[in-house]
Amino acid sequence: MITVLCGGVGAARLLGLLQREVSSFEYTAIVNVADDLVLHGVTICPDLDTVTYTLAGLNNEVTGWGLVDETWRVNQELAKLGGEAWFQLGDRDMATHLFRTQRLSEGATKTEVAAELAARLGVTIPILPASNEPVSTYLETDIGELSFQEYFVKHRHAVPVSKISFRGVEVATATTEVLSALKKSEKILIAPSNPLLSIAPVLAIAGITEVLEQRRDSIAAISPLIGGRALKGPADHLMTELGFESSAFGVAAYYGNLVGHWFIDEVDYAQAARIEELGATVTVLPTIMTEPLSGAALAKGIAAWLN
Ligand code: GDP
Ligand code: CA
Repeated sequence: MITVLCGGVGAARLLGLLQREVSSFEYTAIVNVADDLVLHGVTICPDLDTVTYTLAGLNNEVTGWGLVDETWRVNQELAKLGGEAWFQLGDRDMATHLFRTQRLSEGATKTEVAAELAARLGVTIPILPASNEPVSTYLETDIGELSFQEYFVKHRHAVPVSKISFRGVEVATATTEVLSALKKSEKILIAPSNPLLSIAPVLAIAGITEVLEQRRDSIAAISPLIGGRALKGPADHLMTELGFESSAFGVAAYYGNLVGHWFIDEVDYAQAARIEELGATVTVLPTIMTEPLSGAALAKGIAAWLN
């Protein structure tokens, strides 16, 4: 069994690739919950939904989030009413949030709801929220403190950030499912997700880093930065704003001793030696998963490390 630490899109692509091309292993996804929010009274879990929809083959390739064949009538009406229409919720997608909110109000945990949604959408990979307790990302920016979605969606991650905090993380605990998956897995992968916004809030939950620290040699990560740039989202400029190098090396230095092996993109081959100096081994290969040939090469490289 292989466990994958996940944010949203970067992780969903990796899991999809592994499910298709390295199917000789069983995977478990541990997913960030710090992007979650309550809006219009409904609980929305963007990273859990991105991973679930992608593995179900239902993800919207046009928007890069949400469900395929989406319509927006509810959101259009909300806009007319002067409601919080800046966070676009599709009509089909809304059913997921309504289902989740109802189940949570009946006393189900986020873990139980994630499993129910996955099962009903035909996803076989266990999708585990990192915690059942609320953890919420807040960012200190040039225009004041913003919640994660205010930063990411309302301000299109275009405002400089000076600090990131995860509210609730001091009291949140990893679920028993998460800790048991981490302990049972032969190897652990850290997806090419945003290190500061997607993976950091998973690592910050009590119990998770403690398990990982015991097993550096069985942990590998795929760099989300290629040629110093993120394929999507703010990972690159956030690294710089928070004092890290915006590069594969910068991400490796940020994770430090946690990661024993790195998969970095071929354009970053010159950084392999610097990453090795951190005490990790490195595979240099194509890492862009949206390009079939490149994705196949990455899958092959990961399969070699897993075997
Ligand atoms: P979000 O929660 O949806 O913002 O997504 P994540 O945190 O999972 O991932 C965002 C990161 O995924 C960005 O830094 C991207 O560069 C990275 N990413 C997305 N697709 C790919 C890919 O095909 N290859 C690699 N190496 N990174 C990717
Ligand atoms: Ca996310």
